Amino acid sequence: MKKTKNKLSLPRIAVAIITLIVFCTACIAVNLFSNISLKNFSDYAQKTAEKLSYEASSIIKATQDEKTIFLEAVASASIHNNKNIMVVEFADKNGQTFITKKSRYYNPSAFTGVKVNTPVNVVNDDKLQTAGYVKIFVSNESALEQIHTQKIWLSLLFFVVWLTFLVVIFLYKLLLDRELKILYLGLKNIVDGKFGTKITISGNKQTNNLINIFNDLSLKLQKYEEQNVGSLLIERNKLEAILMSIVNGVVVCDNADNIVLMNSAAEKMLNVATGVLNGVAIQCYTDSDGKYCFRDKIEEFKDTLVQDITKNPPEFTISVDNRIIRCILSPIFMQNDEYLGYIIVMLDVTKETEVNNMKNQFISNVSHELRTPVTVLRTYIDTLYSMGDELDKETRKEFTATANKEVTRLHRMVNDILDVSRLESPDVELEKEITDIAPIIEDTVTSMQVLADEKDVKIVFTKPDEPVMVPINVANMERVFNNLISNAIKYSPEKTRIEVMLSKTENYAEVSVTDHGCGIEEKHLAKLFDRFYRVENSVHTVKGTGLGLYLVKTTVEKHHNGKVYVTSKVGEGSTFGIKLPLSL
Ligand code: ADP
Repeated sequence: MKKTKNKLSLPRIAVAIITLIVFCTACIAVNLFSNISLKNFSDYAQKTAEKLSYEASSIIKATQDEKTIFLEAVASASIHNNKNIMVVEFADKNGQTFITKKSRYYNPSAFTGVKVNTPVNVVNDDKLQTAGYVKIFVSNESALEQIHTQKIWLSLLFFVVWLTFLVVIFLYKLLLDRELKILYLGLKNIVDGKFGTKITISGNKQTNNLINIFNDLSLKLQKYEEQNVGSLLIERNKLEAILMSIVNGVVVCDNADNIVLMNSAAEKMLNVATGVLNGVAIQCYTDSDGKYCFRDKIEEFKDTLVQDITKNPPEFTISVDNRIIRCILSPIFMQNDEYLGYIIVMLDVTKETEVNNMKNQFISNVSHELRTPVTVLRTYIDTLYSMGDELDKETRKEFTATANKEVTRLHRMVNDILDVSRLESPDVELEKEITDIAPIIEDTVTSMQVLADEKDVKIVFTKPDEPVMVPINVANMERVFNNLISNAIKYSPEKTRIEVMLSKTENYAEVSVTDHGCGIEEKHLAKLFDRFYRVENSVHTVKGTGLGLYLVKTTVEKHHNGKVYVTSKVGEGSTFGIKLPLSL
């Protein structure tokens, strides 16, 4: 903020007025002095004339000649003794001048001074009578000269006194200015936040008091600030620690879009090194495809009305390294509604999105899977119902077999779907009995034989000689073997072999199903046992629900404390296996 300089400040006006008063006083004093001097000079002239008058009166009784000689002598002596007396005249009582004596310095045209005419009085018969007159011209030149000189000295004295006064004021002001400047700099330091600034100059008592108060204030402010900064830092650190430990990504931007804080979760999600984006505008961030994924969204956010933002915080997703990240933007306002910037909360929704996609895919698959057997069943049963008598025995048998196959498929699928939630529930505890699992596998292989025969696939089952007794829920384990073997048949080409192997170690029984089918790419293996996951959605063409292996895993791992595994090579085949503990 600018301030205009006030040139006519109060102290300056005061100095000017005092100067004027002093100047006038000096003038008046000098004039008064010269008037007094001139008055003194007139008195002096009068007295000189009276003295001459007195001297003249003393010879009133003398003869005229004696008077003339005497008075001439008096006149000459007066002029001789007093250089200021220019002319001395004596006149008779009628005013007739009979003696005139002039100084050799007398110049009538240049004469300045006093002309005094004094009567010469004598007492005659107790009466005062005028016997004549004494007239003198007294020059005031030297008096004037003296007055002039004295005037100069007086003026000089005033001037010197005034100058001294001014110098004193000036020096005082200079000192005061210096002290004020130091005080000002100290205060400026405090205003700039440099608390603890100390001033060490010493001045007069009042200045020292002021400086002591300043130093006290500065010290107190410093202590206060230290305490305040300390607690603020603790608060800030706490807040930062909270933000940093949040599992969701958090990015805080100021009102110029620059990133001021980013927690490690956000750094991980955006795949950037720690601190690299600090101070960088968020719009400059590029995702793994080199796209400025935040730019448009931030601009859109800034164009939206605050009320709308508060009601519905803007949400958008970005994709970084095949991960899908949902971002929620919220503005930050101070209590006085000052806009500070915004905060972006990030959630990695890759899994959620995948599950959603898989769910959608599952619904579409299930609908398709249901529709096919139902249509086939309807057609076959319809035909059998309306034309059953006309069909030969063989055809009827074939129709019934197909219908049976489709019902089995349907039954299996419906069971799978229903069992998912049952097996997932934490409250469900499967009943188990120690059973030899070899016959169960054998039965499954037998029941699958029809399916295998269709593709001319040979299933070879190998097992140890002694029974493998394992605590299992028979029905659920049947489904596990069923799923593994039916998958192996499903994904095996015609005229290949499937090896089902049962083995036993000290602690567990192991069942593996190896096929020589299409195999599975490495990247799918980790997700294969996930709910709804199907390689078919992207690669394979065989239909299914994506629940089979999930049920295998849930049954084995959750309910039998076992382990599932898979190894596979594309084009060579896959091995799916389970390990079951021999005791609970
Ligand atoms: P689906 O109902 O699709 O068979 P599963 O959970 O049983 O569901 O299998 C999941 C996915 O695993 C299948 O979609 C398939 O791509 C893959 N898969 C399972 N078994 C095999 C196998 N023996 N050979 C190749 N791929 C297999």
